[in-house]
Amino acid sequence: MSPSNVLKVLNRTALNFKKRGFSSSRLDAEVLLSTYLNTDCSGLYVNIERLLTDEELKGFLGWVERRQKGEPVAYITGRKEFWSLTFEVNSKVLVPRPETELLVEEVLKVCSYMGDRNIDILEIGTGSGAISVAIASDLKNVSIIATDISEEAIKVTRRNAEKNGVAGKISFLHGNLFEPVSGKFDIIVSNPPYISEEEFERLPVEVRDFEPKEALLAGPEGTEFHYNLIRKGSCYLKYGGWLFMEIGAGHKDMVEDMLRKDKTYDSVSFRIDYAGIERIAMARRK
Ligand code: SAM
Ligand code: GLN
Repeated sequence: MSPSNVLKVLNRTALNFKKRGFSSSRLDAEVLLSTYLNTDCSGLYVNIERLLTDEELKGFLGWVERRQKGEPVAYITGRKEFWSLTFEVNSKVLVPRPETELLVEEVLKVCSYMGDRNIDILEIGTGSGAISVAIASDLKNVSIIATDISEEAIKVTRRNAEKNGVAGKISFLHGNLFEPVSGKFDIIVSNPPYISEEEFERLPVEVRDFEPKEALLAGPEGTEFHYNLIRKGSCYLKYGGWLFMEIGAGHKDMVEDMLRKDKTYDSVSFRIDYAGIERIAMARRK
């Protein structure tokens, strides 16, 4: 291997990703190389002429090959930023998405009206723990129960809560939807699977072939989980409590219909994401 400095490796990697049609080729190259060299993006540019050893080059090439096959950057680096916190991620959990921060924002808004009393929150399908850990890191007065059907995911959630110093505020339960849960909550929040069978086939390779199917797939319409969260959720909400859900593109009308027909909710509203898609559904238990 010929001696290569940071700049050359960065340019080569970005070009290579671009040729494969990756939309964020430069950023992917920067994140991978900076993580590999144990620095950050500005650290890369400060040492742009630093030579990589043969061993470093060989190891980094292994990462580049994984990315070329479509593996998400976050699974290769093993981490993802969400809510300005760092989360460990692996192939057992969905990589937290930026639009899910809107769900956290809406939960925090309602919590801010609840004053200083303790707020009981239930999260269904916590995955990496992004939502629960973000909420717990912002609020002192919360007790959160975070559940997932995947035992492997719950292990990741627990580590993320510990690393971010909020494990004391979160209990972790393994099981299907509400099965492991008892009691009543001020807030139920969930980013459930919402990809329909038909949509699944059209997902980008990095999602379809690498992220856990049980984190994505939700029956023929993609709203199966929302139906269950709405129907069963009202038994687990205190009167005046709130249900917050992330929803898939084009699901607003179906979810709105479910919430209105249920008759146990009022104050039904939606929030759009950065792409103008109705992404967050919320409603109050009457
Ligand atoms: N909350 C995380 C986030 O927003 O990044 C992960 C959301 S991911 C779309 C959905 C999660 O729900 C996955 O972690 C999956 O394992 C979990 N899940 C799927 N089916 C479930 C069920 N029946 N009961 C509880 N959790 C479930
Ligand atoms: N937002 C994810 C995607 O675009 C889907 C996550 C989900 O099903 N909740 O692939």
